[in-house]
Amino acid sequence: MATQVALLAELQRVDQNIKSNSEAVEARRSALQQLDTQISAQRQQVATAEAEWAALEKRQRELDAQLTDAESKTKDRRMRIARIRNDKELGLVRREIDALKEVMNAAETELLTLMEQGDQRRTAVEAARQALAALETARAAEAAELDATMARVASVIEEDRSRRDTLLATVDVDLHRRYELIFSRRGGVAVVGVRSGTCQGCHMHVPPQLFNQIKRNEQIFLCPSCQRILFWEPQDDESKA
Ligand SMILES: [Zn+2]
Repeated sequence: MATQVALLAELQRVDQNIKSNSEAVEARRSALQQLDTQISAQRQQVATAEAEWAALEKRQRELDAQLTDAESKTKDRRMRIARIRNDKELGLVRREIDALKEVMNAAETELLTLMEQGDQRRTAVEAARQALAALETARAAEAAELDATMARVASVIEEDRSRRDTLLATVDVDLHRRYELIFSRRGGVAVVGVRSGTCQGCHMHVPPQLFNQIKRNEQIFLCPSCQRILFWEPQDDESKA
């Protein structure tokens, strides 16, 4: 029958497997979450860039309409001038034509600026859309990785959990509690082998008398330096001896 220490060592193998497999799944999940966060931020950027571009195009259409309107009014006033015989009225219409020219000049100047900005805006929208597409591709790949990881480890985790339950039925309750405490505080290593008189957890030398007691694997002994549970793990030459 297996000793308590041997059972604990086996339990630890199972627990370490569960831990590393669960962590692998968790790492994939958190990578996916990070991508989701980046994607929603990028969507916001695309929307902002698109809105800025749309506002610019709207202003361009307004200015185009102003120009068309001013041009047709100018044409109309010039035709009227030919028929005017009155100096006062003539002066009035000429001033009107000058005012229309100013409107057209201002509209043309602004349109030129907007055309330059329009190229920048369009580039910004395209860049934002490309960045979003890249993130979405990365997300799809990450989601596939998560699925693959799940497919690979889900049944293994399930088997390990049931193996763990079986082992726990045979391990002393107090000893298990101690083991859990050390396992969580010592980075997932609670039970360590002693090889050539050295603790494999902290690589400190175990006193010879303690080493001899450990070799029997009957009682529970803790490493004097790292406080982990020790068991004897014979090397080839030691086991032959
Ligand atoms: Zn130690």
